[in-house]
Amino acid sequence: MITVLNVDGQELTPCLPHRAEREVNRARAVWIDDETIQLLYNPFTFRDYRKAALKRDHFICLWCGNPATTVDHIVPSSKGGSDLPLNLLASCGDCNSRRGNRSAFLFLREKAHSVPNRIKLSYRILKAVISPSAKVKMIK
Ligand SMILES: [Zn+2]
Repeated sequence: MITVLNVDGQELTPCLPHRAEREVNRARAVWIDDETIQLLYNPFTFRDYRKAALKRDHFICLWCGNPATTVDHIVPSSKGGSDLPLNLLASCGDCNSRRGNRSAFLFLREKAHSVPNRIKLSYRILKAVISPSAKVKMIK
């Protein structure tokens, strides 16, 4: 197991190595030593933001209209995207993993035929991309 430290250094529930690897690859955590990672975000705040974003979007994937169980970062975490609801879109697991780290605008072009409301989605993406707060990493 890998020891997990919160942004403020507090010890959280340990996680499996592949999970730690994924957090680091997504620029959401850094390795402190071989057996310890430190998160770069507050997981408790993120849980609330995630819930708020899903509720705002009525638990419907904005990419395809199917039920949403995940949130997609408009500006990816790996590119400094924040966890604020402004930077989150309700998304089904399929769309979220298919998009990966690609630009939201590129993915929008690819998904153009399946997006239920292109104007709304374009507006939301634009708003997040131009907003300075969407790109500020939450470190408290
Ligand atoms: Zn979808």
